[in-house]
Amino acid sequence: MSLRPTVDFLLYDWLDAPALNARERFADHSRETFNAVLDTCERIAREKYAPFNRVVDTQEPHFDGEKVILPQATHDAQKAYADSGMLGAAQDYDVGGMQLPYTVEAAANAFFAMASVSIGSGMLTTGNANLLMAHGTPAQKRAFALNEFNGRFSGTMCLSEPQAGSSLSDVATRAVPDGVDFADDPLGPRYRLKGNKMWISAGEHELTENIVHLVLAKIPDADGKLVPGTRGISLFIVPKKMIREDGGLTGERNDIALAGLNHKCGWRGTTNTLLNFGEGKYPVRGEAGAVGYLVGQPGKGLHCMFHMMNEARIAVGMAATMLGMAGYHASLDYAKNRPQGRPMGPAGKDPAQPPVRIIEHADVKRMLLAQKAYCEGALALELYCARLVDEQHTGDAATADDARLLLEVLTPIAKSWPSEWCLEANSLAIQIHGGYGYTRDFPVEQYWRDNRLNMIHEGTHGIQAMDLLGRKVLMEGGKGLSLLAGRINNTIERAIHIAEFAAHANALGQALAQVGAATKAAWATGEPTDALANAVPYMQAFGHMVLAWIWLDVALVAQAAPASNARTGRLAAMRFFFHYELPKIGAWLQVVSHRDQTCASMPEEAF
Ligand SMILES: Cc1cc2nc3c(=O)[nH]c(=O)nc-3n(C[C@H](O)[C@H](O)[C@H](O)COP(=O)(O)OP(=O)(O)OC[C@H]3O[C@@H](n4cnc5c(N)ncnc54)[C@H](O)[C@@H]3O)c2cc1C
Repeated sequence: MSLRPTVDFLLYDWLDAPALNARERFADHSRETFNAVLDTCERIAREKYAPFNRVVDTQEPHFDGEKVILPQATHDAQKAYADSGMLGAAQDYDVGGMQLPYTVEAAANAFFAMASVSIGSGMLTTGNANLLMAHGTPAQKRAFALNEFNGRFSGTMCLSEPQAGSSLSDVATRAVPDGVDFADDPLGPRYRLKGNKMWISAGEHELTENIVHLVLAKIPDADGKLVPGTRGISLFIVPKKMIREDGGLTGERNDIALAGLNHKCGWRGTTNTLLNFGEGKYPVRGEAGAVGYLVGQPGKGLHCMFHMMNEARIAVGMAATMLGMAGYHASLDYAKNRPQGRPMGPAGKDPAQPPVRIIEHADVKRMLLAQKAYCEGALALELYCARLVDEQHTGDAATADDARLLLEVLTPIAKSWPSEWCLEANSLAIQIHGGYGYTRDFPVEQYWRDNRLNMIHEGTHGIQAMDLLGRKVLMEGGKGLSLLAGRINNTIERAIHIAEFAAHANALGQALAQVGAATKAAWATGEPTDALANAVPYMQAFGHMVLAWIWLDVALVAQAAPASNARTGRLAAMRFFFHYELPKIGAWLQVVSHRDQTCASMPEEAF
C-alpha cells in the first residue's frame, strides 16, 4: 500500500497546491515540478530510510570517549537527503534553493518521517538555518545558514536546561562579552557562554563537518545578575568547531563538551545529548567559555526562536502523523493476512469452517478505520496548516494576516492532536497484531515508542493546551477563533445542502457552538486558575472539532469524484469520525464549562 495517492489527493484535489504557482515566487513551478520532488523523496525514503529503521533503533548511538558512533546507514541517509536539495528547498534560487512552497516541502518530508522518523535530523537543520535567514546578519547567513542548506553543517536548537524545560524563564546559561573588541567580530557580537543544555537533539555526532548550535542564554546586567523571566533571554550561534568568516574551519574546537548521551524510549536514530558549554574542557584561545555570536538584539532571543515555531510544530505534528500512518499500513497488511476465528452465524460459530482473516471481524475493522480517520485526517490538517504558511508568506496583505491568525489558533492543534491520536493509532496497530504486536519481531511497537516523544517535546501537551485556551483563542479580541469559525461555517454551508452530509454539517455546527460557549464559560470568572485547570480537555475537544471540520471538507471533494475504493474509504473515515469521535467532545467540554476543580483542588496528601 502506498501513501502517494493520499498525498496526491490532498495536495492536488483538495488543497489545489498548483494554484500557488500564480504567485511570483512560485511561478516556475507546476504540478510536474511538484511531482518530481515527491518522486525523488519517495524514492530516497524507500531506499535509504525504510530498510534501516530497525537498525537505528537497535544500534543506538554510543560514545567511545572521543566520538559519537552512529550506524553507516545514518550517514548514507543524511547524505542522500542533503544531496536531494531538501535542506534548502524553500530558499531563494540565488542561494541554491528551489523556491518550493512549504505545502509541497511538508508533503515531501512526510515520506521520510513514515520510512524512518529518527534516522535524519534534517528538520532541525532546516529550522535552524531558516531562523538565521530571518534574523541573522548577512555574514551569519553566509557562514552558517548556507553551509547548513548545502549539508556541510548541521543544526540544533538548544533551549532546554536540566532545571528549565517547560519554563524557559529559568534558563541559567550566561553569556558575557568576549573582550573589549567583542562587538567588532565579523560573525556578530562575540560572547563567552557557560551553562548546561539538556535534551539537545543531534547535539553531537560526526555526520557533518560542523554543528551549529543555536543557544538561548542570558546576558547578565551591570551587577552580574541575570534578568528574571523570558525578557532577558538572548540567542547565540555557538559552533562546535570555530570557523572563519568564509565558513572554513579554523582547526580549533569550541568549548562545548558532551556530558552524556540520553538513552531514549524511541527515536533512537538521532542522538540526544547533555552538553556543557564553557566548562573549560576545550579552551578557545587559552580561555574557558564557549564562543557564541549574538543573533538579533539582546533580550530578543525567544522572539527569534518563536519565528520558527509554527513550522517546527507543524513538522512535529507531521512526524506524529506519519508514525501513525506507518502503523496503520503495517496493521492493515497484517489484518489482511492473519487467519483467526470464525464468523458468527445465526447458529453460532461453525468450527468445521476454515478461519477467516482478522480483517473480516467488525472490531478489527473498527480499529483500522479509527487509524485511517486519525492519520489521514491529521495529514490533511498538517497540509492545510502548511498551505496557511505559504499564504502568510506570499499572499496579499489581508490573506497573509488571516493566515497568520489562523495559524496562531491552529498550530497548538497541528502539534498536539496527532501527537495524541496518531499515538493512539499506533496503540491500535499493536492491538491488531495481538501478541505479535508486543514483540520486536514486528515494527509496530517501535512506531509507538518513537511516537511517544511527540506529546513531550516542542512544548508538552499541557503547555500547548494552556497556550491555546490561555492565549491563542483570546488574542487580538478573539479574531483567530472568529476566522476559524468563518472557515468552518463555510464548509457547513456547502455540506448542508447535500443529503448525505446534512446531519454531519449540523453536528459540526453544534460542536462549533459548544466550543464557543465553553471558551466563554471557562473564562467567565476571568481567573486563569479557573479557566486553565481543564486546558487539556479543552484542547482535546477543540482538536476533535477541527478534525471533524477537516474531514467534512475533505469529504466534499471526495464525494464529487467518480466511484472508487479510495472515495468509499474517505467517506467512511469521515463518517467514523462523526459517529465515533465527535460525540466525545461533550464530556471534555462539560468539565471545561463548569470550571471543574476536581483535579486542581485535590490535596497533595490525598493522592
Ligand atoms: C527526545 C527529546 C528530544 C528533545 N530535543 C530537544 C532539543 O533539541 N532542544 C531543546 O531545547 N529541548 C529538547 N527537548 C526538551 C523538551 O522540549 C522538554 O523535555 C520539554 O519542554 C519538557 O521539559 P521537561 O522535560 O523539563 O519537563 P517539565 O517542564 O519538568 O514538565 C514535566 C511535566 O509537568 C508539566 N508542567 C510543567 N510546567 C507546567 C505548568 N506550568 N502547568 C502545567 N503543567 C506543567 C508538563 O506538561 C509535563 O507533563 C527534547 C526532549 C526529549 C525527550
